[in-house]
Amino acid sequence: MDKHISDSNPPPDPGTPAPELTEVEEAVRTLIRWAGENPDREGLVETPARVARSWKEYFSGYGHDPAAILERTFQEVAGYDEMIVLRDIRFESFCEHHIAPIIGRTHIAYLPDKKVVGISKLARIVEVFSRRLQIQEKLTAQISSTISQVLQPKGVAVVIEATHHCMTTRGIHKPGTVMVTSNMLGAFRDSATTRREFLAMIGTPQTRAPL
Ligand SMILES: [Zn+2]
Repeated sequence: MDKHISDSNPPPDPGTPAPELTEVEEAVRTLIRWAGENPDREGLVETPARVARSWKEYFSGYGHDPAAILERTFQEVAGYDEMIVLRDIRFESFCEHHIAPIIGRTHIAYLPDKKVVGISKLARIVEVFSRRLQIQEKLTAQISSTISQVLQPKGVAVVIEATHHCMTTRGIHKPGTVMVTSNMLGAFRDSATTRREFLAMIGTPQTRAPL
């Protein structure tokens, strides 16, 4: 098991106590003041509590074990041994450098070796890893390595296309830029034919709706 990748942003150590809600709300009030606003203004009074709740949702991925999601597999597949592709899995994440949104889509393929999973489980894996502080390269590798480790297929391919708000709405201000990352394991790495078949199935980013 590739510990380095899977555990590079693990759930918080249970020895580290979660902050009190009042501390979180006070931190949000500080950020509101940092923005130049008055947190006691009527429209902002409830905002710290709302932000605290939103963060629980944005970062709900820390509360789930991705490997456990894939544990229930099916072996009766009537000899099906071709590529399984789930494309255009939309996700929302946050970059760990600016806590700015990363909005994208993931395409996953695997070449099963006897075991397959319910297709929604692949989308759940994306959900659990994306709802953590991320960089796109790590998100890509975590998804592929988890599928590889748990299902032990003949190969796994993951491609992610995403826009990073830290570079579209601030900093260098380049709207429309899409970052593409991929991770190919097993047959997808070793066989150009298999890789080409997968890439043909997912098509090119230009043919898809904007992110
Ligand atoms: Zn960033």
